[in-house]
Amino acid sequence: MEKKNIDWANLGFEYTPTDWRFVAHYRDGKWDEGELTQDANVVISECAGVLQYAQTCFEGLKAYTTEDGKIVTFRPDLNAQRMADTCKRLEMPVYPEDLFVKAVEKVVAANAAWVPPYGSGATLYLRPFMFGFNSVIGVKPATEYEFRIFCTPVGPYFKGGVRPLTLTVSDFDRAAPHGTGNIKAGLNYAMSLYPVMEAHRNGFDENMYLDSATRTKVEETGGANFLFVTKDGTVVTPKSDSILPSITRRSLMIVAEKVLGMKVEHREVLFEEVKEFAECGLCGTAAVISPVGKIVHKDGEICFPSGMSEMGPVTKKLYDTLTGIQMGRVEAPEGWIHVIE
Ligand SMILES: *Cc1c(COP(=O)(O)O)cnc(C)c1O
Repeated sequence: MEKKNIDWANLGFEYTPTDWRFVAHYRDGKWDEGELTQDANVVISECAGVLQYAQTCFEGLKAYTTEDGKIVTFRPDLNAQRMADTCKRLEMPVYPEDLFVKAVEKVVAANAAWVPPYGSGATLYLRPFMFGFNSVIGVKPATEYEFRIFCTPVGPYFKGGVRPLTLTVSDFDRAAPHGTGNIKAGLNYAMSLYPVMEAHRNGFDENMYLDSATRTKVEETGGANFLFVTKDGTVVTPKSDSILPSITRRSLMIVAEKVLGMKVEHREVLFEEVKEFAECGLCGTAAVISPVGKIVHKDGEICFPSGMSEMGPVTKKLYDTLTGIQMGRVEAPEGWIHVIE
């Protein structure tokens, strides 16, 4: 198959419509079969549930070309599962998990020409999402939904080299206890736009959010989980019911423990402890791990010993191992690599 003529290495993280997307509808209490379509537009009522009451949620995952030329995705079953959890919390119908994975396969296979070649650093980003489709004026869940997956090629995350991030501890909260912080709902992002733009206006890359009840424990940023490394090499990730369960973070913990033989801890992390850590990174599908160099807070700043010019050694080892697994250079734990073709 002929690849598209794209300057893969210079792609950014932008939406480029590809040839095919998958669309299914929920009506009269059931999902239709769904189909691939070339139509990138959605036409809905001005009163659609998604427009009035933000009934929408999403997922994000990538397709890769491996060293031996296969096209694969990484743990799509976990995206299916997480979307099911999200839908239940938002009174949306679950799109069956096996059909979710099949739809991912269909979209990637139909857009094989858009999957960046091995070694380009670029990947095909997939965006499954669902929204309330029919008109709803009283506050209640929609009765009709659209489930859609589109994809878009995205460039290498660390284009021009690794640049550790500078964070600020936000005065705003991301998620309430017993709220929606643990699901991938659009609403969590709508309300994070002001705090993140404020952070940018003040010269920071991202916000570190603390737990909203006590403001003493580390939660996450707007779109990535934290991973810390202690001075004696233990990997520590914050545990809280209001953190979004990142698939990258969960995978890195398994890589650290089972592949690299490191000690890992998933526990509450006090902000007080952060200054004692040797390395800090942000985990998510987009970057795998982005190193954090500095965290600025009201009483001063924390500079990690790993510095502002490169990844710390443990962060680097985790990054190399997980990307090696995704690109087929390192043997994957059972079931992690889902071969499309
Ligand atoms: C999507 C997301 C992440 C990262 O999750 P991955 O599954 O690793 O991509 C982390 N935090 C938030 C708030 C998110 O929405």
